[in-house]
Amino acid sequence: MAQYDFVIAGAGPAGSVFALLAARAGYRVLLAEKSRFDKSRFGEIAPPELRLVLARVGLQYLADEPFCCDAPAALSVWGGDQPKCRQHILSPYGPALRIDRRLFDEELALAAREAGADLKLGGAVRFVPHPRGGYIAELSNGGEARAQISVLATGRGGGGFGLPYVRRYLDDNVLRWWLEALARTKVIQQVLDGCPLPRTLSVTNARGSYAQKGIGNQWVAIGDSRIAPDPLSGLGIIWAIDDAILVVHLFSRMKWQRLSAEMDARTVRDVEAYSLDHARTYATELRFNNSQFWNSVLLSEVLTSQKDISLDLDSESSGKHATRLPISTMLARSAGGTPQHAGCCIA
Ligand SMILES: Cc1cc2nc3c(=O)[nH]c(=O)nc-3n(C[C@H](O)[C@H](O)[C@H](O)COP(=O)(O)OP(=O)(O)OC[C@H]3O[C@@H](n4cnc5c(N)ncnc54)[C@H](O)[C@@H]3O)c2cc1C
Repeated sequence: MAQYDFVIAGAGPAGSVFALLAARAGYRVLLAEKSRFDKSRFGEIAPPELRLVLARVGLQYLADEPFCCDAPAALSVWGGDQPKCRQHILSPYGPALRIDRRLFDEELALAAREAGADLKLGGAVRFVPHPRGGYIAELSNGGEARAQISVLATGRGGGGFGLPYVRRYLDDNVLRWWLEALARTKVIQQVLDGCPLPRTLSVTNARGSYAQKGIGNQWVAIGDSRIAPDPLSGLGIIWAIDDAILVVHLFSRMKWQRLSAEMDARTVRDVEAYSLDHARTYATELRFNNSQFWNSVLLSEVLTSQKDISLDLDSESSGKHATRLPISTMLARSAGGTPQHAGCCIA
């Protein structure tokens, strides 16, 4: 049976960049992807900073490939009925990108192979602990490989990987709510032109979620497997690549026990920071204020971190020491801003 230092399940941006960097660092790497990159994929808008992130891993040329188109501005409808345009002309990194994700993801996986990783397509991975340590990676299309360390880069999927991986979701009952609410907004109403929403729809679960248990005995979750942001942020690809860079870097500096503690602590911090940013952004959208769902979104994500609901506020602007404010006060203060990221498009 082939032996690897890392077997990575999932060749999205996180898995492929992890494989690329680990192979460049001289590790034996298997990158296993359940698809054959034969279907279209979600997540096609990225802010200009993606160019910078690609450059960090030597893949800046991807932004100039035909599957990446320049997007000079983002048009979003948030906080009111009027679309607002945000130009990227002043960005030091260039325009934002509109990406054909199928081709982009495939190209990232091929770059990992070129760097020395073995790439296997068409088989979903399941890990089985090996009695002498590490794991056997079983591929649903028949193959097997031995892994010292298993890396879950499987995206938003819930489980069934053979690991004690526990996922937690941040919003409940959002799917139909969003559809109904959007159908009443001005831009979508115009597009629907009196057509009712179909009763049955093909729906993708895009709720924010994170791994409550995202690292364990010789296995670790990265990218969306660790934290999957609300797609509204338009930051998922950048997040996934950054996370892969971070975890490869930490592997080279820490023993497993420290790495495990570090990743657990980071997940708590990242979920807190994400929840606060998310709640702030949602607080600026006032059209759904009377909805029970909307009000619950504003606070529930902060509460799910199960911490003190006061957070440290770094008082950069006031020049004083950090103060602790209740979340509700912070939300009230932040009301009136605008969503911060490219790619928001709620009509
Ligand atoms: C509707 C929607 C819209 C979005 N829009 C944007 C956007 O505009 N901009 C943006 O930046 N982000 C967007 N995102 C988020 C972005 O797509 C993700 O954050 C990003 O793809 C995460 O990368 P990843 O590598 O962690 O996971 P993924 O890209 O999900 O990759 C996971 C990979 O694992 C594979 N896999 C799953 N299970 C197994 C298994 N058992 N064995 C082997 N392989 C497996 C999958 O086939 C997939 O290739 C959106 C997400 C959704 C759902």
